Amino acid sequence: MPESQDVKILVDRDNKGKEKPWRGKKSMSLKLSESYKRIADKVFDEYKKRGVHTRYKRVKRKIGEDIKVFSEPMGLYDSEGKRVVNYEKRAGNVRFCGTCLEFQPIDEEMKRLIKANFCRVPLCPMCQWRKSLRVFRDVSEVIRIIQLREVNYVPLFLTLTVKNCSVENLKSTLDDMFDGWKLLLDNRKIKRVCKGWFRSLEITYDGDKIITGKRYREAKKYYDERNIKLGNANPNYNTIHPHFHAILLVERIYFKSDDYMHTRDWVKLWRQSARLDYDPVCDIRRVKTSKEKKNQVADIAKYTYKDAEILTDKLSEREKDDVIQSLSSALHGRRLYAYGGIMKEVAAELKLNENRMVDDDDEINPELAKMILTYRWDFGISNYRFVKEIKIDETDINLKGGNL
Ligand SMILES: [Zn+2]
Repeated sequence: MPESQDVKILVDRDNKGKEKPWRGKKSMSLKLSESYKRIADKVFDEYKKRGVHTRYKRVKRKIGEDIKVFSEPMGLYDSEGKRVVNYEKRAGNVRFCGTCLEFQPIDEEMKRLIKANFCRVPLCPMCQWRKSLRVFRDVSEVIRIIQLREVNYVPLFLTLTVKNCSVENLKSTLDDMFDGWKLLLDNRKIKRVCKGWFRSLEITYDGDKIITGKRYREAKKYYDERNIKLGNANPNYNTIHPHFHAILLVERIYFKSDDYMHTRDWVKLWRQSARLDYDPVCDIRRVKTSKEKKNQVADIAKYTYKDAEILTDKLSEREKDDVIQSLSSALHGRRLYAYGGIMKEVAAELKLNENRMVDDDDEINPELAKMILTYRWDFGISNYRFVKEIKIDETDINLKGGNL
């Protein structure tokens, strides 16, 4: 493409006029790609020693009239048959994630995404952002529908935490937490009172070497109790704090029944379920106003990890790579979001697909729907630039089918 004098940069605002973070998320995904590249180099010798190799599966495909058998790569495995993360591949996938975006214009500055090449790597900042928007919309919709049908169902917001763990121990800590969640749901009382649930995992990383003013002010009581003063070394530096957020639906009668559980009961139950030897911090609250409800659904739809906490230059390359490697291997193959009970049934009924990352529910002027604007990430100017505009006939293209 010839270099043009006036490069048109992507502007996409939400309905409150706030610019959507396309450029920031893409820049962060490039930082993640660089980290993956360094990790791939770092693990090269270890993978070689462990006999890491690509495994293939045989798939049948119809080509014309014939059925042919192909070998398709399944991923990397070590000599003991354990699956390992392919960092090299992730580096490439994340680098090109969201480099091509197709929009329908809503007005001068607002756009509706209809197609993009997202990578779906679990830690990708771009995909995390898109996925959290999807989860927010889906969970809000599921709750809205259930409340129309079952007027006696009330959502509760539950947060379950464990003590901070080291970067190396994240995987085993998550194993215990996921087993704990299953056991908690198997509890007889929970089975009786909980009609449906949605659960998400959030992981925060503590990269502050010292106790900053902000930290001290926010948790003054915690620090005072431990005689930790402003400017002291942060005892939680370089640790990870994984926790679950969940929405539970209970019947209104629950609040007056013998089954009612106070925070201390949740603490006891989570302690037992996750097999902890201390009382974990748990939080349970009822949603009272619709405004509040909206905010709390947003809590559920938070990013799995905060990219700004880890990928910015606050951390050294080594620190960054260690955390990314720990997160990648600990989250490999894990369900970060899950539905249960009536929430699962309604989600299935609505055919919700958390992997769908385009905007498919915004109102659009049919006249504008005849236009597609394409923007591409320009690695040179580190921004999205306008590439082309196509006017289409509605009969030519099925826009609803524009998944990915
Ligand atoms: Zn991505």
